Amino acid sequence: MIILIKKGADEAQVENLKGLLKSKNIEPHVSQGSLQTVIGCVGDVAELDPGLIEALDVVESVQRIQEPYKAANRKFHPDDSVIDCGGVKIGGGAFSVIAGPCSVESEEQIVCVAKAVKAAGATMLRGGAFKPRTSPYSFQGLGKAGLDMLLTAKKETGLPIVTELMDFQHIDLFNDVDVIQIGARNMQNFNLLKEVGSYTKKPILLKRGMCATLQELLMSAEYIMASGNENVILCERGIRTYETAMRNTLDLAVVPALRRLTHLPVVVDPSHATGYAYLVDPVAVAATAIGADGLIIEVHNDPPHAKCDGAQSQTPAMFEATMQRIAKVRKALFA
Ligand code: PEP
Ligand code: MN
Repeated sequence: MIILIKKGADEAQVENLKGLLKSKNIEPHVSQGSLQTVIGCVGDVAELDPGLIEALDVVESVQRIQEPYKAANRKFHPDDSVIDCGGVKIGGGAFSVIAGPCSVESEEQIVCVAKAVKAAGATMLRGGAFKPRTSPYSFQGLGKAGLDMLLTAKKETGLPIVTELMDFQHIDLFNDVDVIQIGARNMQNFNLLKEVGSYTKKPILLKRGMCATLQELLMSAEYIMASGNENVILCERGIRTYETAMRNTLDLAVVPALRRLTHLPVVVDPSHATGYAYLVDPVAVAATAIGADGLIIEVHNDPPHAKCDGAQSQTPAMFEATMQRIAKVRKALFA
């Protein structure tokens, strides 16, 4: 249920209304929008009489929400959420590019890539230290040593860092990480979602599961938000279809579709979506044009020798060219 508050409503009366909701075990989420103040009601609203609420002086109208996601729902929070990622904003017109290798391989590698992507205009650095690999025999990431190398790269470049948390037992190693990535394979690891949601307010980059519907993605965001962390960034990274020519099938229309359903920022990952470096540039440009709030792109200093995802990794030179094309699209469509 959402309650639309009248323009210029008396603060004290709004507080009274919030108190009334709390007394009925309903958590009021107040969203002070540019056009309207909205109170989203989270909890069992079955007992609440909409007529009674509507009769209050400060209330303009009451609407039932059909969708099972509440906190993530655009109706609860009409304005775009702008999420602060270690000083870099994303959402609500703020566009951000996260770039870096699939995995951190050495200090020289991550620092070299960090400097290159920063010079090209990236605003955050990615790099996996704990890697979810299909095969147990593949490189699993450097773990804590990899996180330390990422922190060195952050210190050297000033770029906030984004890295994946696979297991909540590692959370204390993530104190200086700016954005915690929850990978596609863990999108429905509900315990992990609840744990990160209740433990931290750091932004969470939630990647769409390869077989997940939009509603399932939003329900996973809801798990994090309902646990106490509203700083969720959604990531479309391609889904599995019958097509085998590319690594995944990029579902680009989800960007405007999610924009309508949710206030959370949406970024696109053209690297995992396609699996081939030559496809990353055109897809990144298309994702920018369709209105993504940001991109996450894999860049490696030496793709043929990458320990993970070399085929889809851009070189720093390719990334720089992509950044220039993205800037033109942003200027033409969104300036
Ligand atoms: C990654 O970003 O390196 C990754 C493993 O992504 P995904 O979870 O989307 O497969
Ligand atoms: Mn990867």
